[in-house]
Amino acid sequence: MTQFSDLLDIVSSFANEHHERADRVSIAPRLTGARLRERFAGPAPTTGSPPDDVLRDLIKDADEGMLASTSSRFFGWVMGGNLPVALAADWLVSVWDQNAAIVATSPASAAIEKTVGEWLKEMLRLDPEMSFALTTGCQMAHATCLAAARNSVLARHGWDVEAEGMIGAPSIRIFTGSNVHASTGRAIRLLGFGTSSVTTIAEGEDGTLHPDALREAMEGVSGPSIVVLQAGDLNIGAFDNYAELIPVAKKHGAWVHVDGAFGLWLRLSRSRSALTDGLELADSIATDAHKWLNVPYDSGIAFVRDSDAHRRSMEVSASYIEKNSVIREPMDWTPEWSRRARAIPLYAVIRHLGSEGLADIVDRTCEITSALAASFSAIPGVRVLNEPRINQMLVRFLDDDPSAGEADHDRRTQEVVKFINADGGAFFTTTEYRKQLVMRVSACGWSLTEEDVATVADCVRRAVETARSDAIFGPDVVEPVLVADQTFDGEEDGTQPDHSIR
Ligand SMILES: *Cc1c(COP(=O)(O)O)cnc(C)c1O
Repeated sequence: MTQFSDLLDIVSSFANEHHERADRVSIAPRLTGARLRERFAGPAPTTGSPPDDVLRDLIKDADEGMLASTSSRFFGWVMGGNLPVALAADWLVSVWDQNAAIVATSPASAAIEKTVGEWLKEMLRLDPEMSFALTTGCQMAHATCLAAARNSVLARHGWDVEAEGMIGAPSIRIFTGSNVHASTGRAIRLLGFGTSSVTTIAEGEDGTLHPDALREAMEGVSGPSIVVLQAGDLNIGAFDNYAELIPVAKKHGAWVHVDGAFGLWLRLSRSRSALTDGLELADSIATDAHKWLNVPYDSGIAFVRDSDAHRRSMEVSASYIEKNSVIREPMDWTPEWSRRARAIPLYAVIRHLGSEGLADIVDRTCEITSALAASFSAIPGVRVLNEPRINQMLVRFLDDDPSAGEADHDRRTQEVVKFINADGGAFFTTTEYRKQLVMRVSACGWSLTEEDVATVADCVRRAVETARSDAIFGPDVVEPVLVADQTFDGEEDGTQPDHSIR
């Protein structure tokens, strides 16, 4: 029989190895597609296997197909790394294996969660009376906040949505910018609003909603309404002008929700927190801890000003639940029932770094993004599209043919990004921005340092100098074959996922 401790030792020694080589191996998965899937294919086992074999095989078979998103030189999508103290505390979550639903199922987890909520409101300078919920991610934080919004705006029009549902309810108009993250749209669908209840408003050149545009869109609105604003858009990290927009929305009785998935953390910054001024006036705010706070997945947070509406929209009762009326019951605020004690890694990170250490991560990653912009701009054929104000930047690679058009620059950008990722030293994703294909840079990892700037710029320079579609891509091959002196084991089969999704 394998000892309990032997199994944990297998994982612990792998964790050390994984951590030590994090910055030395290819950041992109070394193996993708059919060859990877084959390793896990086959009929469901009828007989079992020893647990140590299962773990060793899992590590051996899966590791090459993992994206090294905890590397300091990972800039894809908007994703954070994993602070060591958070990872270790996350292991404790599974060791204790608490059901964090109610106080009775985990008194300590409920107590920690309450403290974490209070600390976050204090550090982020939010109203201490706001209620909060720890969810799987920002997606479910949106669903939580917008469920509270739905309850509140309909109650004000004499409709109890929890009892009567949405059919026959006064119709709700939702106003959003056209660049909002698709997760808000899905929360809107889940809650039964329907996408046709959404009025989208074009942002200005600076990526923010103009107060006059909102004023115009809301003219004559007197029924239930919700306005969704952004704190940090994915592309250029734009922040709406809350101090001007929120009063416009309020004049029409609207509920104001803010998507602050990563941008809310700017409130910790020493030099950039003014970008979020007025955000504290919002009715609800959704954010992520698994991005800039660098805790493991999954960790989102919802904050709601009208705590009664929040509670009414989520509260549950069942005969077997023994509830404690004095202490906060976590389950009354979340859309989930059983859930892991995700407050524990959050608690560990906040205790370890304090608001000063967290501000250091936010400010350092923003400053490094500016340094990357300067280094990239010095490379011929590279155009940085925005002067980064925070940790988000867009880059375009130009085809050097004098007759090249936008489509050629799109292709060139795709080609260079694929080369960088295949080369392995850094990792970026592409997106479409104003009808152009661009490389997006998102710097959220706690381990990113000044020393990475030169290394990353070298990766980009090498790609610009070497990447040539005819040299790298065969006619039917989507991904480049392996390049440079990397020790890739797996050959591409052309089925690597499309990195261009938002
Ligand atoms: C990541 C992100 C989301 C979605 O958050 P999840 O935690 O993945 O559910 C929403 N909005 C913005 C701006 C994001 O960056």
